[in-house]
Amino acid sequence: MNGRLFLILGDQLHPDPHPLLTDFDPADDQLLMVEAASESTHVWSHKARTALFLSAMRHRAAAFRQTGQTVTYLALGEHPHTSLGDALSACLAEHEHRAVVMLEAGDWRVQEELDAACQRANIPLLIRPDPHFLCSLDDFNTWAGEKSGLRLEFFYRWQRKRHDILMADGEPVGGQWNFDADNRQSFGKKGPGLTPAPERFAPDAMTREVMTLVEQHFPDHPGQLANFAWPVTPEQARQALDDFIRHRLPEFGRWQDAMWGHEPFLWHSLLSTAMNLKLLDPRTVIAATLAAYQAGNVPLAAAEGFIRQILGWREFVRGIYWRQMPGLAEANQYDHKGALPDWFWTGKTQAACLAAAIGQTLQHGYAHHIQRLMITGNFALIAGLEPRQVADWYLAIYVDAVAWVEEPNTLGMALNAWPGMTSKPYCASGAYIKRMSNHCQTCRYQPEPRIGDKACPFTTFYWDFLLRHEERFARNPRMALAVKNISRFPEEERRAIQLHAEKLRANLDSI
Ligand SMILES: Cc1cc2nc3c(=O)[nH]c(=O)nc-3n(C[C@H](O)[C@H](O)[C@H](O)COP(=O)(O)OP(=O)(O)OC[C@H]3O[C@@H](n4cnc5c(N)ncnc54)[C@H](O)[C@@H]3O)c2cc1C
Ligand code: SF4
Repeated sequence: MNGRLFLILGDQLHPDPHPLLTDFDPADDQLLMVEAASESTHVWSHKARTALFLSAMRHRAAAFRQTGQTVTYLALGEHPHTSLGDALSACLAEHEHRAVVMLEAGDWRVQEELDAACQRANIPLLIRPDPHFLCSLDDFNTWAGEKSGLRLEFFYRWQRKRHDILMADGEPVGGQWNFDADNRQSFGKKGPGLTPAPERFAPDAMTREVMTLVEQHFPDHPGQLANFAWPVTPEQARQALDDFIRHRLPEFGRWQDAMWGHEPFLWHSLLSTAMNLKLLDPRTVIAATLAAYQAGNVPLAAAEGFIRQILGWREFVRGIYWRQMPGLAEANQYDHKGALPDWFWTGKTQAACLAAAIGQTLQHGYAHHIQRLMITGNFALIAGLEPRQVADWYLAIYVDAVAWVEEPNTLGMALNAWPGMTSKPYCASGAYIKRMSNHCQTCRYQPEPRIGDKACPFTTFYWDFLLRHEERFARNPRMALAVKNISRFPEEERRAIQLHAEKLRANLDSI
């Protein structure tokens, strides 16, 4: 009987000492890493997403080898197995391992696949908690208890208190839990002015090799590789963090929700990829933010606004994912059935805001939160697109997409398909997008009209969405104002909006 098989997945690239290997016995145990084609094809993955994972995995394997650690590395194109499960099965058939050991996967589907492979081989699968997160799944479940609705605000306060972050004598520093009133401004007519270009990392030989491989294996996949510049090692991730703290964090909160044409990054951190691959620990990110605040380089509103994303939202959605799966994946409370228009994959739409968000996504595999939530997500919600198709698109198209973070954000937050995460849907008309961006200035549509050839599709669909669900929203106090607004519409206008929405919906590809 051989030792154990330690399996490290593509998003488990923690720096040394790797938390899975604390009791690894080099004399007996085997370490396995696998590049599986099905991870790029189960959703039609952006080329940059695949390149990022493969490059970071190869850099991690090289770092292991440098420290004398032997790795069995199955590279794409050099082994016959399509899926992770098949690769694991083959490995288990070849060696007589007494157990497989891994950290919690980031995707229910992957965990099930690996579990099934171990069951087939009749070998125990030992799953260890991933210490990367500041809230273990057990702690999250204890917090969630019997609550019917899970709200970020309460989870975040609980996290702040128990980790003693931005607290003084049991109270939040500054006397408030959040500073949204100072944050979340729009640029106004003048625009953002000069924006600080984020540090980008030119592909090295290993990344370039991976990029060639991706073009060979997935030539018809969406997205471009020409702009690839993501951190692929812990050292680069730390550099990216330092660059953000110095140049963009001070203005982060203020411009967190603002959008502007040809400005894909603005004051955002671009740290999700590094954290999701575990190249960067969220504790390091929070400590650097606090240090900048304490040194007087960053206002409290910006520091708090940023920490809320990491300590709050990021941990909150992970807890929700594992608590609600597998039901979450199929949630569809509005029974929406619309097909995803083709332009989600090409960016070729006349709606300027959608063309900008999707266009930059194809270029970089990146769009910031408000673009994902209030442009593409909002459109998918109010147009009535089928949530599973939309969630698969988000999982495919963003370089930072891993199921534990993508699914709750899409199905819970953006589409409100699963109702337990927000107290109201994030739906908005063209007026919101006009206020928060300059897109409407160059658009073929106008944000104000509700019907007619010039009517902004967001505006038509927004009112139509409210009309379609008027009864349901009338029971929600947070939707009271919106419902009151539509209750004033004369019957004729209601019908005209619904007819126009139906017309648009019948031909979404031409928007
Ligand atoms: C529909 C939809 C899908 C999304 N899919 C993903 C995804 O696949 N992967 C992913 O990492 N994020 C996802 N997000 C959350 C968020 O949009 C991204 O984390 C963020 O845009 C990444 O860019 P950034 O690093 O510049 O973030 P910043 O704006 O600089 O924010 C800082 C960090 O906070 C964290 N964060 C902020 N908001 C959230 C959130 N809602 N949930 C979890 N973490 C958050 C991220 O780690 C991020 O790096 C999604 C949001 C929506 C609305
Ligand atoms: S008019 Fe409507 S579709 Fe055009 S940019 Fe503005 S919000 Fe987007």
